[in-house]
Amino acid sequence: MNVQRSLVLIKPDGLQRDLLGEVIGRFERKGLKIVGLKLIRLTESMLDEHYAHLADKPFFASIKEFMMQTPVVGIVFEGIDAIEAIRKLIGSTNPRQADAGTIRADLAMNVPSNLVHASDSVENATVEVKRFFKDEELFQYEKITDRYVFGEGV
Ligand code: UDP
Ligand code: MG
Repeated sequence: MNVQRSLVLIKPDGLQRDLLGEVIGRFERKGLKIVGLKLIRLTESMLDEHYAHLADKPFFASIKEFMMQTPVVGIVFEGIDAIEAIRKLIGSTNPRQADAGTIRADLAMNVPSNLVHASDSVENATVEVKRFFKDEELFQYEKITDRYVFGEGV
């Protein structure tokens, strides 16, 4: 069993549009366990690191500005193959092209305001969780439902 942790950020459009509960609820209902959760006021230097792969894009400055408009909600989820499962739940980058049923397809229309960020690989998840969460902000605990979502399923 491959239990992974992945970082999700709910972007400023999620907060402004009162979709925090809806978005968190979709991950909860899937069976992903919340092991860290907080509001984060992103800084330009955090975003320079977080979006380093976009540094040469024309929209780099505007996406950073967008991400600093309000605090974001940072969540660390844990689950079996959580990184891929979460990427499937959020859908592809452009919400108008994302598969119906995904968070971005169902709830958003635009980039950059596509509601959520989620780690896209094991390597990035490790770095991103560390970037935004201290060890003492991450929790290990048992839920009575763990046997259904992590165990044999009975
Ligand atoms: N983005 C954008 N225009 C683009 C591509 C990306 O504004 O043409 C923004 C969008 O908010 C996206 C973020 O930059 O979520 C990070 O881009 P990435 O390619 O990593 O997409 P993601 O992993 O978020 O699907
Ligand atoms: Mg990405």
